[in-house]
Amino acid sequence: MIYLDNNATTAVDEKVLEEMLPYLKGEYANPSSMYDFAKKPAAAIRDARVKVRDFFGAKDEKEIFFTSCGSESANMAIRGVLNCNKEKRHIITTKVEHPCVLNTYKYFEKQGYEVDYIGVNAYGELEVEELKSKLRKDTALVSVMYANNETGVIHPVEEIAEYVKSKSPETRVFVDGVQAAGKIPMDVKNTKIDLMGISGHKFHAPKGIGALYMKPDVRITSLIAGGHQERGLRAGTENVPYIVGMGKAAELSLDALKYEGTEVKRLRDKLEAGILKNVFNARLNTSVSGRVPNTSNIGFEYVEGELILLHLSDLGICASSGSACTSGSLEPSHVLRAMGIPFTALHGSIRFSLSRFTKESDIDYVIEKMPAIMDKLTSISPFQEELQALRQRKQH
Ligand code: PLP
Repeated sequence: MIYLDNNATTAVDEKVLEEMLPYLKGEYANPSSMYDFAKKPAAAIRDARVKVRDFFGAKDEKEIFFTSCGSESANMAIRGVLNCNKEKRHIITTKVEHPCVLNTYKYFEKQGYEVDYIGVNAYGELEVEELKSKLRKDTALVSVMYANNETGVIHPVEEIAEYVKSKSPETRVFVDGVQAAGKIPMDVKNTKIDLMGISGHKFHAPKGIGALYMKPDVRITSLIAGGHQERGLRAGTENVPYIVGMGKAAELSLDALKYEGTEVKRLRDKLEAGILKNVFNARLNTSVSGRVPNTSNIGFEYVEGELILLHLSDLGICASSGSACTSGSLEPSHVLRAMGIPFTALHGSIRFSLSRFTKESDIDYVIEKMPAIMDKLTSISPFQEELQALRQRKQH
């Protein structure tokens, strides 16, 4: 099996699992209990919080709140901020956010909030000047994802936060950091970002654990009423094994960041170059630079993405034709539509996403197999004339 769908989810690192196991077996005490048996799990949570603090580049571990996933982190931030400040009723976000963010804003629009959705250019890069022009006195929240899950394009969130705070210090800035975490360095303490969400299963922790970073002066309401856990902002007995797992995954990912930026990037670039060279109807949907090192989004003109995925799957290769949540439906991705990807490539766009466990032989295998798959699929495409013209253009 060749797994190139790491933006959907990642394999749990063996070292993460090892660290978690004691808390799934003998060390099951509720960390809030008074007796000695609870001391080890309580200490393990403290230790994990410090590791996640360092992963974010935050100043203090008190700024870290454990959640169940990236979607919960986003909901906690957005709903929490807006519910705490009901006078301001304007929001700025982007057209290319993950559905956990977009659908939350859809809800607030129904409650009478005004939401500006900022577009991206043909390479998926945010129209930053447009965003700046929309900022108002009554803007409660500016919300921009760090890196896009489908294209890997990095948005200038630090610059945006800096601008927002210089013009409107009361406006909160939330960053969905899910696809940046573990791929590029994060240093929230030296930014004006107020809140940032991440998800463990995108960087080799298990599914079901996430975190929210929040600057000390930010006030939010909690999503879950209950006990005192997470300083009263996220009630529910702590998921000790998963918190421990995310702490370990954060530590390992921080250590592996350099490898991501060099080796993972080299393999991604090799895959991209190999496909673009050998497959006549392939086009890169983004620019070469300004992306996280592991992601490649390639359009195959005049063929159906789902058919490509099925052929890849027959060879044991896992990739994706949209975000994890939209793949499975035949609707073209809202991200590629926002980029204005031509109709000819919109339905045949494939995302390959690598990890530190991707091997050179995996990449060589995909490069070797792709031309034959595409020969087969283009031969049954109804767009034979267009394909012929494309082939000739490529030869010249
Ligand atoms: N934000 C982005 C950019 C994502 O890619 C995802 C998952 O694909 C999420 C949020 C949601 O994360 P989770 O699956 O942990 O809820």
